[in-house]
Amino acid sequence: MKVEAVLFDLFDTLLLLENDEIYYEPCLKRMHSFLAKNGVNVSFAGFSRTYFEVRDTFYSESRKSLEEPHFNVRVSQTLQKLGFDFDVSDPIVMGATKAFADEFMRYVKLDDGAIDVLQKLHGKYKLGLVSNFGIPECGRELLDRFNLTTYLDFIVISGEVNQRKPNPKIFRRALQALGVAPSKAVFVGDMLDLDIMGPKSVGMRTILIKRRPIEGNSGIKPDKVIEDLTELLTTVEDC
Ligand SMILES: [Mg+2]
Repeated sequence: MKVEAVLFDLFDTLLLLENDEIYYEPCLKRMHSFLAKNGVNVSFAGFSRTYFEVRDTFYSESRKSLEEPHFNVRVSQTLQKLGFDFDVSDPIVMGATKAFADEFMRYVKLDDGAIDVLQKLHGKYKLGLVSNFGIPECGRELLDRFNLTTYLDFIVISGEVNQRKPNPKIFRRALQALGVAPSKAVFVGDMLDLDIMGPKSVGMRTILIKRRPIEGNSGIKPDKVIEDLTELLTTVEDC
């Protein structure tokens, strides 16, 4: 059957993140110093510990609910636990999120083949992006900075719709916006559980971009495996 749309994951698919989350500590430091300048006086160690407690609770809840509250929610809850009563829309909370995001963006680079591949696929197929990210405005800024927005017919980032991969709803939302049946769409991503299992559950075909060794036997099988984005040019059609 002819492929009509190709949908992409963002991080470690079109954009590459530095490994092992080395960005995390500098991001937290930048957020902490923004807060300190705005009258939130707590030690970095205390702030960091509380942030991770809150984050880990969010992670375990979202694994079950497949929801994605905006990053502002975890910042607000971290501050509340530390005794500062700021709600999610407080400028201090939004400023802290922005401080984190500004630092985070320094650790992101463009995959060497991404522009060429998108350019060649654009026009031939409808192109979409489905990303899990709690700071959607930062995701959209990165897409602009790296000139990717222009190639994408539809973009959805989990934090703007409170649904995260592998939630079938976020894939159906994208397919509906693109006006394409699941059986005529291919999803490309680096995570078996999010980018392969999720799209398969709604009837899409799937391509895994192998960014790291595949661990264990999850039983989740992509239709194709590639090691470089440029391989898509010859893989999409016979997927
Ligand atoms: Mg990814």
